[in-house]
Amino acid sequence: MPHASREIRLKSRPVGTPAPDNFELASVSLPDPGPGQILVRNLWMTVDPYMRGRMYDRESYVPPFQIGEPLQGGAVGEVVASNDPAWKAGDLVESFFGWREAFVAPAGAVQKLPAGKAPPQAYLGVLGMPGLTAYAGLLTVGEPKAGETVFVSGGAGAVGSIVAQIAKIKGCTVVATAGSDDKVKWLKGRGVDHAINYKTCGNLLEAVRAAAPNGIDVYFDNVGGEHLEVALELARPFARFAECGMIAQYNDTAPRPGPRNLIYVVGKSLRIQGFIVSTYANQRPQFLADMTQWIGEGKIASEETVEHGIENAPKAFINLFNGGNTGKMLVKLG
Ligand code: NDP
Repeated sequence: MPHASREIRLKSRPVGTPAPDNFELASVSLPDPGPGQILVRNLWMTVDPYMRGRMYDRESYVPPFQIGEPLQGGAVGEVVASNDPAWKAGDLVESFFGWREAFVAPAGAVQKLPAGKAPPQAYLGVLGMPGLTAYAGLLTVGEPKAGETVFVSGGAGAVGSIVAQIAKIKGCTVVATAGSDDKVKWLKGRGVDHAINYKTCGNLLEAVRAAAPNGIDVYFDNVGGEHLEVALELARPFARFAECGMIAQYNDTAPRPGPRNLIYVVGKSLRIQGFIVSTYANQRPQFLADMTQWIGEGKIASEETVEHGIENAPKAFINLFNGGNTGKMLVKLG
């Protein structure tokens, strides 16, 4: 019996900021699962900034999306029919078959999620890839110590909001930037010492300097561009830079020059280290244990911004580039 589903395909490669007509919605008919396969209906899917990189036709740490093919990304769903003895209808599934309402796949291509421990979509956010990025990026790459000052850009996003809160748990003074007054308010409500609206503060360098008059010890970079120059300017000797992402530059049509003040890396003995979360996959058990404890103690709050329906997945993705989300941007399906 065929099963109806819809999926989002890449129609054309964006030039500059992605637009709705770079995507197309297609209806498909899925077969019953064959031997060793399961049919899954997705409950939630994630949109993430890194997906913009996969829309370019170029070599990277993940291969490019192909025109006319469904996009891929994280999703959580529920088994509807199983032809594999290890799975039954109702089991919760985490997979990389996002951007579609349902899929048939070999059971070995997905992971089982524990039922009832956390809302399923948490595994796409605070307990998933963005949470681990914040945890490993801050603690292993940034190495903050109690009493130090941590500066995080993109501070109200999926990763940044967790970085800011972990830094508070570790006894740091936290300076965070975000693109709206509501986001600033949210950050202050989570105990962030200095939250700055980078769009309205006037001079970003002077605003961050006023918040961190003695300089910064750790910079967690989600944004790049001007934020990175500000961090270089205000870095204390031996500061650590965890280079997580540079979303301000993802839609650039030509490489931009700079940072103009990179020379500080020498005189201030800075350590600037980029990282990809998958390098730290082995930290997942400790990350889950710590994060679950911190959430239980009320020390970490995970904010979500939710769009509804597969047809709104491109909108959710595009909105990542104009600040449309506080916390994790998600699409609820079904
Ligand atoms: P977010 O939830 O932070 O969403 C994107 C946010 O970025 C927007 O809400 C917006 O917030 C901000 N933003 C968008 N455009 C700009 C701009 N031009 N200048 C400044 N801020 C901008 O995304 P994630 O938390 O998922 O990702 C954050 C960063 O981490 C990204 O750079 C991403 O690529 C990177 N990343 C890296 C990983 C790794 O393994 N290295 C893994 C996961 C994410 P605002 O309103 O504040 O402008």
